Amino acid sequence: MSETAPAQSRSLSAPQKALHKLGLVRDIDLALHLPLRYEDETRIVKLRDAREGQMAQIEGTVTASQIGHRPRRQLLVTLDDGSDTCTLRFFTFYPSHQKALAVGARVRVHGELRGGFMGWTMVHPAFHAAGGELPDALTPVYPTSATLPQAYLRKAVASGLHRADLSETLPPELLQELHAVVRTPWSLREALRYLHHPGPEVSLAALEDRTHPAWQRLKAEELLAQQLSQLTAKQERDALHAPALQARPGGLHEQLLAVLPFSLTGAQRRVVEDIARDLQRQVPMHRLLQGDVGSGKTVVAALSAAIAIDAGWQCALMAPTEILAQQHFTKLIGWLEPLLAPLGKRVAWLTGSQKKKQRREMLDLIASGEAALVVGTHAVIQEQVQFQRLALAVIDEQHRFGVAQRLALREKMQGTAAALPGHARADGGFVRAEPAEAPTQEPHMLMMTATPIPRTLAMSYYADLDVSTIDELPPGRTPIVTKVVADSRRAEVVERIRGQLAQGRQVYWVCPLIEESEALDLSNATATHAELTEALPGVLVGLLHSRMPVAEKKAVMSLFTDGQMGVLVSTTVIEVGVDVPNASLMVIEHAERFGLSQLHQLRGRVGRGAAASACVLMYSPPDGGRLGETARERLRAMVETSDGFEIARRDLEIRGPGEFLGARQSGAPLLRFADLATDTHLLDWARRAAPLMLARHRGLAEKHISRWLGARSEFLKA
Ligand code: ADP
Ligand code: MG
Repeated sequence: MSETAPAQSRSLSAPQKALHKLGLVRDIDLALHLPLRYEDETRIVKLRDAREGQMAQIEGTVTASQIGHRPRRQLLVTLDDGSDTCTLRFFTFYPSHQKALAVGARVRVHGELRGGFMGWTMVHPAFHAAGGELPDALTPVYPTSATLPQAYLRKAVASGLHRADLSETLPPELLQELHAVVRTPWSLREALRYLHHPGPEVSLAALEDRTHPAWQRLKAEELLAQQLSQLTAKQERDALHAPALQARPGGLHEQLLAVLPFSLTGAQRRVVEDIARDLQRQVPMHRLLQGDVGSGKTVVAALSAAIAIDAGWQCALMAPTEILAQQHFTKLIGWLEPLLAPLGKRVAWLTGSQKKKQRREMLDLIASGEAALVVGTHAVIQEQVQFQRLALAVIDEQHRFGVAQRLALREKMQGTAAALPGHARADGGFVRAEPAEAPTQEPHMLMMTATPIPRTLAMSYYADLDVSTIDELPPGRTPIVTKVVADSRRAEVVERIRGQLAQGRQVYWVCPLIEESEALDLSNATATHAELTEALPGVLVGLLHSRMPVAEKKAVMSLFTDGQMGVLVSTTVIEVGVDVPNASLMVIEHAERFGLSQLHQLRGRVGRGAAASACVLMYSPPDGGRLGETARERLRAMVETSDGFEIARRDLEIRGPGEFLGARQSGAPLLRFADLATDTHLLDWARRAAPLMLARHRGLAEKHISRWLGARSEFLKA
């Protein structure tokens, strides 16, 4: 988090290291590390007045202490508080425990009281010698890690809280507006002091469900920080220069439109207009194109590329997997090369697995500018690629790139646009040639995703992004019928496959991802492949899995694309993007193990042509049991709707936002306190407040961002 951290870490103690690992470096980080729950040690409860299940503190004299052996070895201590007795049980204990809890000792213990047949008991209570003053606030219990003792953390937080600068960052007019939303005015300082050490009279319920005004203030601050950081990112981008690309009447994109075998849907036309408008500006575009699987995003990318190429610039298209990149490449070559050839331009191809010689050729094409379009995996930016004039970068299935990857991508892109000649650095970056007085140019960016972002997320995490949506499928698609069947009906499913094959159709069979074991994963797919090969004599059944050499994958894929292969058995490698309109049946084995968006994406591989298509979700309940509630909810959602937005909404409900954002890969929770489902009033306030604050109180805004986000602000921009 701080630049000096690595150098320091050698001399740090174990708990200090653990603090750093939790991101608790600055005083303010500690002050913002809030309790999970509280323990009430402000009073001593008499056993006579205690309730079953109560977290209680009691004080008394040890009247017996012995080691029991049933059901297993344990230390049993009897404590008498004058009103009743209580048995303390310790399953792990040391001689020091026995000494402190010897007969006659006066102790104060804290734990959960259980009543019952044998009288009161407490299992593993906290204890110390009796006497001493009672604290006047509840004792906070902080989220911590195994190597960081609670007591150490408590002290660290208390001193962080004491030292941290908690001065007000909200200007009066915004505070006033906030108070209209939250009612009770709390300052950050008050809110933090209170949440760390609330008085004993507090309603624990309001603290724990975070409706308390102190929590409201914190959540409002956090959301504001997020909005400010994204707005700043947007402003920074708006200050940059990009080549202005004007679509010419009769230009390449119109020529492409003329040769397409279909006409655009209204939605496609609308998003192409959005993009064309962005490209005309001298400010880098930063647009997200969302459209359900099969809605036709590729052609939108091709038309955008055509505008850039027509204006004399280069365009890069990146896909998350080689297969997908290959498919784009084939498609785009088919569409664009006939139009590019008369101009002396080509489409280049770049992936990690490419042969050295071929890559060399491609790199030369790109550097000379002969390659007007470069298609590939993120090798496009990771390799030593030198564009002559890159003006537009399109990132397909952008949600498949993790947050960290997206950041790296952006950093690289920012160095790649070349209005001026320059050279690539060894690490793949780009150094502009001197003199660099002319304004530096950035490429326009178009990100595409089939996982639509629910509205609340779009308003918070993606506030700095312009969004275009394709909300219409190309005409002539028949809706996909989705069926959920138990694995015990496998034979019927195979029968169904036979029926489709007889009509000249093709079939996907997706095997489950077994996360714990790639080997198991594979053996499962191999077994299914053998089973289907045997059951379907005379039919070419192919197998595709992630550990196959790329060349082999491509060979299998092209047999399927050409229609020679009837059935393709695969692990989830086909999950994104593949487009084979003749495929009419998708079978997903162990569908209960897949996430909702994943199922939706897989299902989207069929129903791309005119044929009636179906998706069979096979499930196997655990031995003798029923499927879990979440799994059943997911399968139900799949049957009930095929609307990508509705699926995304339900997915958000079931899984929470982390998964959407790839936050798990980054390890950085993006919102710690606010909850987008319940805090929309605060989000609305933050959205109104952020632009005002940046315009009128820039210094305060910067202070606010750094207080809340520190080094994490970069993550929010990814
Ligand atoms: P996705 O949005 O999932 O990437 P694709 O771009 O792969 O979808 O398009 C899915 C299929 O629909 C492709 O075969 C594509 O050629 C076709 N397609 C795209 N737009 C149209 C249209 N307007 N009319 C008919 N077919 C279209
Ligand atoms: Mg696609």
